[in-house]
This record gives sequence, C-alpha cells and structure tokens, in this order.
Amino acid sequence: MEIVSYSEARKHGLMYYFTGKSCVNGHIAKRRSCCGNCIECVVAYKNRHPEKNRIRVQKWRDENPERARRTAREGQKKYCKTTKGQLRKFCRRASTRLSYGKSYKSQRSLLDYTPEQFEDHLIRNTEFSSIAEAMMSNYHLDHIVPISYISDIIKDEDLQFRVAMDLKNLRLIPAKVNFEKKNKINTSEIQIIISYLFNKYNINV
Ligand SMILES: [Zn+2]
Repeated sequence: MEIVSYSEARKHGLMYYFTGKSCVNGHIAKRRSCCGNCIECVVAYKNRHPEKNRIRVQKWRDENPERARRTAREGQKKYCKTTKGQLRKFCRRASTRLSYGKSYKSQRSLLDYTPEQFEDHLIRNTEFSSIAEAMMSNYHLDHIVPISYISDIIKDEDLQFRVAMDLKNLRLIPAKVNFEKKNKINTSEIQIIISYLFNKYNINV
C-alpha cells in the first residue's frame, strides 16, 4: 500500500490515509481521515458490539435518509454483479415464476451447488469471465426444461424449485435465441435433460 499522509489525505478529500506504522493494537492498516481510527480496529469494535453498531447505523440512516437510500442503492447494484448476487437474482426469478414463496435461505439450502460452482457451470465454454459480463452482452439465463413444463408435471413445490434450478437445467443463451425457443420441449436435447432430472430426483410420470 502506498504511503499517504494524514495532511495529504485531508487536502485531497480522501477517506483514508496510510502511514505504514502500526496502530496501538498492532494493525498495519489504513486509517480514516475523519477521525484517525485504524480500519481494522473499527471492524473489530463493530464485531465486538453488533447491537451498538446496529443502533449507530440506524441513527445515521434516520439522520441522512437521502444518503442512506443512495448508499443502499449503490450497494445493491454492486451486490447484483457479484456471483452470490447473480445466484440470488436467478433464484428469485425462478421462484416468482413458480409462485414459490420460501425465503432465499431455504431456497439456497435446496441447491446442491455453491454460487462459485453456479458461475463456473454457466460460463464454461463461453467467452465470458463472469455471469455479469454475459448479462451485459445480452445473454439470458435459460432453464433448458421450461419452468411451465416443470410446474405442470411436478406437484411438490420444493421439488419444482430444485429441478428448475438444477445446474444441469441451466445455461446462458443469447436473449434472441431464448425468445425464439418459447416453451418448446420436443427437441432431443431437452428430452435428454428431462430424463436426467427425473432420474436424479426419482420423479415418475
Ligand atoms: Zn488497529
């Protein structure tokens, strides 16, 4: 990390400065230009006093509603672009289409993969380095076996969700192709996925 003195940071309106020297607690970390507190000490304090921190944050939000809204929006935007955020977004989309009302936590517990495996699976064999990048290029997440078909055939709600969101049932395709596909299930590719999924989840039709 580059050395930036307190006075330089103040002069240029930077949020942090860095001396390269350790704080009283032995951290060598950035310090906040407003108060001189070491950021590792601040994090440690917040973790030691979660309730106090919650109250402090709420007080700040009440006093700065406009900034709080903006910060929340920006945080949301950043989160949406992360791997975790993408998985959450697609779980929400699938659950809306299935009218599946369980919390995101319960939804996640039904999936047999991590957000990282989700991303690896989707971008494998593509030119993209992340799902967010594919989205920017107008790619869509496609359920190979359409959600409408899944909800017609399967009655159990948890099972509907698991089948819809099974990695084998997910791929990225250009938006245009997705619109042309509609809800067709009569291709051999889709039939193969249907047999795979029905076998995996012991579904008898
Ligand atoms: Zn410290």
